[in-house]
Amino acid sequence: MSWDYSFNTFFKNFKRESKIISEDNMTLIEAYIQKKQLQKAVSVIKNALKNIESASLNIAVTGETGTGKSTFINALRGVGQEEEGAAATGVVETTMRRIAYPHPKLPNVTIWDLPGIGSTNFRPESYLTEMKFNEYDFFIIISSTRFKENDAQLAKAIEMMGMNFYFVRTKIDNDLDNEQKSKPKTFNKEKVLMKIRDDCSEHLQVALFCEPPVFLVSNFHMSDYDFPKLETKLLEDLPAHKRHIFLLSLQSLTEATINFKRDSLKQKVFLEALITGTLATFPLVGMIMDDVENLDETFNLYRSCFGLDDASLENYAKDFNMSVNDFKVHLRFPHLFAEDNGESLENKLSKYIKHISSVTGGPFATVIYFERAYYLQNLFIDAAANDAIALLNNKGLFEKEEGPYISMPLNNWE
Ligand code: GDP
Repeated sequence: MSWDYSFNTFFKNFKRESKIISEDNMTLIEAYIQKKQLQKAVSVIKNALKNIESASLNIAVTGETGTGKSTFINALRGVGQEEEGAAATGVVETTMRRIAYPHPKLPNVTIWDLPGIGSTNFRPESYLTEMKFNEYDFFIIISSTRFKENDAQLAKAIEMMGMNFYFVRTKIDNDLDNEQKSKPKTFNKEKVLMKIRDDCSEHLQVALFCEPPVFLVSNFHMSDYDFPKLETKLLEDLPAHKRHIFLLSLQSLTEATINFKRDSLKQKVFLEALITGTLATFPLVGMIMDDVENLDETFNLYRSCFGLDDASLENYAKDFNMSVNDFKVHLRFPHLFAEDNGESLENKLSKYIKHISSVTGGPFATVIYFERAYYLQNLFIDAAANDAIALLNNKGLFEKEEGPYISMPLNNWE
């Protein structure tokens, strides 16, 4: 039957890391759908959506002073080191208390700066109690040199509390630079990285008796080295309902992150469409009547999710030495709303729907008719995500021969 088919078909497109609905809930919903108890299925979906909307995220970051903890926290929050509200970098830590750094766009996301355990003289258990360990979703333990016995003992205590921890070794760029300068002839980047990773692991394994999760990063080049891997691992480990907010909190630094964000937003729009009774059985023709202001608002929200809000665009334009308006011309999203070559938004939308139907092989789009708001939101998500990727790659952006909005791969539908 159509619900069953559509539900499964839709969700199987997404990787575990970006799934915002738990396996348990999926099973439950599928069972209700099969028994034709749609109201019950809807109520599970409603609950799941409520949990997604109200999810909060508290991330504990601990490490000794000078390790790059403040710089890492700012990078996680997407706040420049010199911006207002940034964690002060290059200063010696004196406080023994945790400090809260809220996410600039998401009030439910807080990153907590914890003093390094070494500077507190607490034993791991007392340290965790003092730092209110049960308020966090996971711990990140930072070091810029070797991890110390202290760090391993702390991780062990965190594990005993049934919580997740991740080791982050910062300043990898420095290590590589130094190594290259001292051994220009035999320098091998991969070998150096492996040596640092092994060295960290060996130290930690002695205390932990297991393969510890170690990630090598440079706070100045977050899209390089292991930071993308850390993001993926965190997504894997988080409970499904927290993935959405975590993804939204991340900067659009890699194509993978942008695609995960796209996936997560599309799932949310799909679930919302299911429960708002959009299973209308009318075809999608001539229905664009909404006032554009409202559409603009919705679209601006998606732009913001992908770091394409006006403030961010101004920064990009500065980097490219252009005015914002000149810069915007090179992005695809402004073309969505403009009458391009006599093509209205409605025409573009219907092309987009045809495109979706063709890549999904038809049945999904033809068995269930969603309201056009559903497709419009998907179009917006894709437009913003594709622009974010173009911007990231810096290529494609200034080549205008491609179509304005569906020329980039729409990965979820392929
Ligand atoms: P905290 O005391 O642990 O909060 O460390 P900070 O974030 O204040 O960083 C200490 C110094 O290391 C500052 O001068 C930073 O600019 C620098 N730093 C931080 N992270 C990195 C990194 O990944 N690579 C390099 N090369 N320097 C870093």
